[in-house]
Amino acid sequence: MRAYQHTLASLVEGRPVSWLRQVHGHAVASVPPGVIHSGTHADAQVTQSTHAALAVFTADCAPVLLCSVGARVPVLGVAHVGWKGLLAGVLDATVAAMQTHSRHPIEAYLGPCIGAGCYEFTGPQLNELTHQLGPQILTVSKAGTRTLDLRAALSLGLARHGVPLDVSDAVCTACDGEHYSSHRARAESFRQALLAWVQPS
Ligand SMILES: [Zn+2]
Repeated sequence: MRAYQHTLASLVEGRPVSWLRQVHGHAVASVPPGVIHSGTHADAQVTQSTHAALAVFTADCAPVLLCSVGARVPVLGVAHVGWKGLLAGVLDATVAAMQTHSRHPIEAYLGPCIGAGCYEFTGPQLNELTHQLGPQILTVSKAGTRTLDLRAALSLGLARHGVPLDVSDAVCTACDGEHYSSHRARAESFRQALLAWVQPS
């Protein structure tokens, strides 16, 4: 990560990049002014600071950007969410952390992640997710097996907090090998980065 820090910083107008050691859990790192994380064990981070750029890295898991709407100083959140994080409650924890800063409405945006057609996901974990979020998260993969619709699960999980999720940029990482890394489809080890920061007004 250290070797990439300079390149990333140039992309984000000189801001230091706050990054996490992602562990598929529910921990949310707070990023107060003047602070960045460099490998803190967490899967989401939130800030109101204009100082740092927040990063999460994903391949087939979902990069989710959350932002408060209408606050004088926006609250920003980024989260790395796969099925483990969903079950662990990382989205709930991220929204709760943002709401400690502001009670303004929150909007969320989903980046590239594995599409339901390409996702082979069965077993007790699928039953547990269905129990938590409802049968709307179930669909059928291209292979004809019952599977998890990650986008639907994320949408439902956020809707419980009144947070709408925009999925218009959520292309399938398994289908689009030209632009995106997919661990499941191609066993690739590079990652997409979601980078987000608060622009001073
Ligand atoms: Zn696909």
